[in-house]
Amino acid sequence: MIPGPFTYHRPASVADAIKLLADLGDEARPLAGGHSLIPMMKLRLATPDHLVDLHGIGGLKSIGRDAGTGGDRVVIGAMATQHDLLASEVIASSLPILQETALLIADPQVRYRGTLGGNVANGDPGNDMPALMLTLGADYRLEGPDGSRTVAARDFYQGAYFTALEPGEILTEVSVPVPPAGHGYAYEKLKRKIGDYATAAAAVVLTMSGGRVATCSIGLTNLSETPLLAEDAAATVIGTSLDAATLQKAADAARAIMEPAGDGRGPVEYRKHVGGIMVMRALQRAASLAA
Ligand code: FAD
Repeated sequence: MIPGPFTYHRPASVADAIKLLADLGDEARPLAGGHSLIPMMKLRLATPDHLVDLHGIGGLKSIGRDAGTGGDRVVIGAMATQHDLLASEVIASSLPILQETALLIADPQVRYRGTLGGNVANGDPGNDMPALMLTLGADYRLEGPDGSRTVAARDFYQGAYFTALEPGEILTEVSVPVPPAGHGYAYEKLKRKIGDYATAAAAVVLTMSGGRVATCSIGLTNLSETPLLAEDAAATVIGTSLDAATLQKAADAARAIMEPAGDGRGPVEYRKHVGGIMVMRALQRAASLAA
């Protein structure tokens, strides 16, 4: 339970952090809240020789509307913690599903340290924020030795702990389009106990018009090696009033793309079964909140 030896670095700028990561090579890892990385180091599943702590870099914790897009997007610095998201008026008024999801992550101690950037960059299928970012159509800004680039969350996840991040790159901000006023939303998470990772979870963002679903996006957590966007399930509900038969069809369409691991959270069939139920519950609750 004691990590292997490592050298600690605390750069003061993104440029310094990128240079350090480039100079130190494969054996260096960025450190954010440490609430995924340090447990992995204690278990010796990760043994970096160097940790590059991002806490000394100013400006990576900001949360605000992006003036460049007329305020259509919210831009969140990678080092904003889950607690920062919960305390933010901007998030409360424009992206309430982020607060609902953050509240379902672990416990207050973890939420005070764990960052949005660390949660989405980690690549752990059990992390809750990645599926939400797919659902919302978020983009990630990555900065590295060759400059900066933007990658859609929907293109970022390649496998368990494999992402589009290149060696030496840092995720610096997450940009999320603000859903239309009156949208409905829900994040339904089944877990074995408070503080646990999801056995299965579903995120839904939708709009309603005349009692029928006008737009819909559905994301799934911990039901595959990567977060999933359940596009067929979302298409199934468009134009419907979400009657019982439609809900069942949407759950079945979502189950068709689930490939969960059978593990301590349950066998494969059980996790697919409850995954479909999370989809149905999230759709119903999101519709009930839509204006
Ligand atoms: P770190 O642990 O510091 O880093 C994680 C990984 O991402 C490392 O590989 C690191 O190098 C990399 N990284 C970090 N920041 C960046 C960056 N800006 N750019 C590039 N790479 C970066 N999470 C959930 O989503 N749901 C849960 O239910 C949940 N339960 C938990 C329960 C417990 C008891 C604990 C300890 C953790 C739990 N977590 C859960 C994980 C928690 O949310 C972590 O904080 C989060 O996964 C990682 O964020 P971090 O800031 O701690 O990142």
